[in-house]
Order: sequence, then C-alpha cells, then structure tokens
Amino acid sequence: MTATAAPLRGPSNGALAEALFTLAEREPAGDRRLALLRAGYAAMDSVRPARRGVLDDAPPWLKPLVSQLAGCRGEGALAAAVERLSTGQPPHRRATRQRFFSRSEVERVLATAPEDLQPQRLRGAFHWHTDASDGRAALETMARTCARRGASWAVVSDHSRGLEVASGLDHEGVRLQRRRVERWNRRRGDELHLLQGLEAEILLDGTVDVPAAERREVDCLLVALHKGLGSGPDQTERLLRAVATPGVHVLAHPRGRLFHHRQGVRARWELVFAACRDNGVAVEINGFPRRQDLDWELARLAADAGCDLILASDAHAPSHLELDAYACAIAARAEVPAERILNRLQPDAFADWLDLHSS
Ligand SMILES: [Zn+2]
Ligand SMILES: [Zn+2]
Repeated sequence: MTATAAPLRGPSNGALAEALFTLAEREPAGDRRLALLRAGYAAMDSVRPARRGVLDDAPPWLKPLVSQLAGCRGEGALAAAVERLSTGQPPHRRATRQRFFSRSEVERVLATAPEDLQPQRLRGAFHWHTDASDGRAALETMARTCARRGASWAVVSDHSRGLEVASGLDHEGVRLQRRRVERWNRRRGDELHLLQGLEAEILLDGTVDVPAAERREVDCLLVALHKGLGSGPDQTERLLRAVATPGVHVLAHPRGRLFHHRQGVRARWELVFAACRDNGVAVEINGFPRRQDLDWELARLAADAGCDLILASDAHAPSHLELDAYACAIAARAEVPAERILNRLQPDAFADWLDLHSS
C-alpha cells in the first residue's frame, strides 16, 4: 500500500463490540471487566462509528485500547489485536452472541431492504407493554406514540399473571384494561385501532397459564417462554403443546435467548414451525435488541415452513417502539416474503386474521 491510498475503513461496530466482549471475558471479575462489557454494549447500540459511540463513557485507561482496536484495518487485523492483547488466545465468539445485529448493522441492512420491510411502512405496532405489567408508561401514552409513528393498529401485550416477576395481569386486570382499550377506540379508533393482547406463559409442561374462557376474552393471545430456558433437554414437545392450545395466535420470542447471557431453548424447529403453520399460529420476530428472537436463520426456516410472521418491538417504554426496526432488518436478511408479514395488513384485515385464527 502507498501513502496516498485511501484509508481503509475500521472494523464495524459489531466487530468492535465482539472484540470488547472477548477481552472482557478474559479479565477477572471486577471494574475492568465491567468497563469492557459496558463498552461492548455501547458499540452494539451505537449508531455512530464504532469508536466514537463507545468512548464517551469509557474510563481513561480504556480509551487508548478502544482507539487501538477501532484503528485496526479490517476484521482480520482486529482479531490479531485481540489475540495479542489476550496473551495468545485466539478470539472465540460465544454462542450467546451469534446472529445478533448491532444497531449500525440494522441501519445498513435497512438501507437496501425492500420498501415493504421499512419500519415506517408497518401498519401494526405489535407486542408492547404498559405499566399494568412491567412497562413504564400508561396504555394511552404508548398508544399515542404508536399513532404518532404512523401505525394504524396496535396490540398491547402485557404479561399474564403467570409471570410473577413482571406482576402480570390477573383476570380482573385484563377486564380493567379492556375498558381502557374500548374507551381509546371510541375516541381515537379511526386513527389507531387498539387491540388487547396478552402475553401468556408457557408453563414447563407446555400448558398455557390462562384458562380457556379467559383466553377468549382478549383479541390476541401471545404465548412465550420466560422460565425453564436452559439449553439442556430438547423442548420441542413443550412448544408443540403450547402452539396447539386453542385460542393462541402468536408464538412470541420462540427461543427465549438473551444476548451474551443465554442461548435459549433447544428444539426441532422444523417441527415447531410446521405446527405453527398447521395451527394457524404466527411466529414472532422480536426486535428487542437483546433478544432478536428469531434470528435470521430461524426466521428463514419459519418462512420456508409456510408460517405467517409478525414483527415486534417488545417495547417497555414509548422510546422502545422504534425497536421494531431490528425485526424488520432480521426479516429482510432472512428474505421473508413481505406478504407473510402480518404487520403490513390493514386494521380490518388483521382483525379478520385474528378471528380466523381464534379457534
Ligand atoms: Zn416476553
Ligand atoms: Zn413482552
């Protein structure tokens, strides 16, 4: 290379994040490890070029290290630098960090994604929480934000009572929320049609924690795993039983994975997705950055199995509603046909879909 050659681009935010996580894992528990982890998360979430997104909050000792890593020309050089810094151990990406998009990768994928998969084109804002369970804002605040973002329908999806940690809704709670949903629809339903969902628990044996009569009281029943998420025994049977439960509309964040912490359940996904298709259960692509569940490979598998897919933000605050962009990027990378994505439907068509899939 000559001195006049154009400078090569540094590593991507995702690659820089991975380098920081790897170095963190090679530190003993303590402040240094914590600072490296924090910097790794900042790189994952930053829209700015890698090093600037990370440096703002970094302690003084970390800044030159980040500069060094961000200055590597290409990912091979970055891997070599990580190996040198960790006394000869080659970098190894943990399974819990595979197939996650950094925020800047989301932007890059969306820049060339089909028009139908652009977040601003989605009509339905699916799967978000309110302060009735573990969300931070009131139902009406969340709904107003959905409307402002251009949605024409939205599905509030608070937790059912089975999830004690999230203080889910009991039967009375569901009914109280129903009245607020109806009040919203009387006043502003033409602008944003609000539907009441419920994120029910799939118990360890695959049963759903909401009784049959109560399942029919909500417009849209999501089922999800939040417990028993170890990647030990295969959990196909648990999932098959859940999606065959009458009244279930959506299998939410199917694996239950969590970035850097948990790989999620093991299952024979071909069988699970075939059962979703046969039972008319849509499969969710959850865009919450630490979940990204399904990832693009499993989303492809679900699309190939003939499933309907639904994109979700899993927002717990108004500012999270934009996280459906991650789900759009996953769908785009998986090349899911746009006509399979339920968020594209007009409000009436989505209501019809729910009716059709209620039995
Ligand atoms: Zn959940
Ligand atoms: Zn949720």
